[in-house]
Amino acid sequence: CGIVGYIGYRQAYPVVIKGLKRLEYRGYDSAGIVLYDNDNKELKLSKTKGKVTELEEKAKNQISLTGNIGIGHTRWATHGVPNDVNSHPHVSNSGNLVIVHNGIIENYEPLKKELLKRGYTFTSDTDTEVLVNLIEEVKKQENIKLGKAVQIALNQVVGAYAIAVFDKQNPDEIVAARLGSPLAIGVGENEFFVASDASPFVEYTSNAVYLEDEEMAIITMDKPLVVRKIKDDSLVDPYMQELQM
Ligand code: GLU
Repeated sequence: CGIVGYIGYRQAYPVVIKGLKRLEYRGYDSAGIVLYDNDNKELKLSKTKGKVTELEEKAKNQISLTGNIGIGHTRWATHGVPNDVNSHPHVSNSGNLVIVHNGIIENYEPLKKELLKRGYTFTSDTDTEVLVNLIEEVKKQENIKLGKAVQIALNQVVGAYAIAVFDKQNPDEIVAARLGSPLAIGVGENEFFVASDASPFVEYTSNAVYLEDEEMAIITMDKPLVVRKIKDDSLVDPYMQELQM
């Protein structure tokens, strides 16, 4: 399973697709991608059971492939069978938040019950769709930024995760976090990459920050990378590693 995200001046689609192929060695049963294009202000989502090449076939007939922000996923199903609907990315009820997730939300059942009580609906059987709606609910209740909402939501979660999330209403930012699943951030000039390992972005940048467990990153265009501890919100000085190209 794997995660690839891009935000910057390039077209995100080819970067993400190529990156997902580099992560195929990790194993998966489904693949998906979501893009956001500032010109038409729409999320463009395509996902399928099967290989990344099948995703490419589907995506080119289903969505326009333009956009400078995108996140992609290869899934190894843990909650819900491998099918198109359970594939990632998952979208929140408002249609604004999108997420890709590797790992398991162990306490997704009580969290889902609570969200159902509050009127949320679910289209998939995944633990991940619960997480993206939990983030949405926290964000709405507290009227806070995405990064803060992700942090509060993750403090309610038991399990393991690498995630990348963005909000179509604030599409210059990706929030990423890890606990138990690897996540690396590629820091380029006026662009950032997020991935399960550095292989999807080594050709674009040799600067990488590897998140530690219980850390999250706020990746914002034209701003320095911000890394925080999920538990207590304290700032972490990101340790930039030089990759061998
Ligand atoms: N638990 C999530 C799911 O089943 C993510 C699985 C993964 O690691 O790819 O959809």
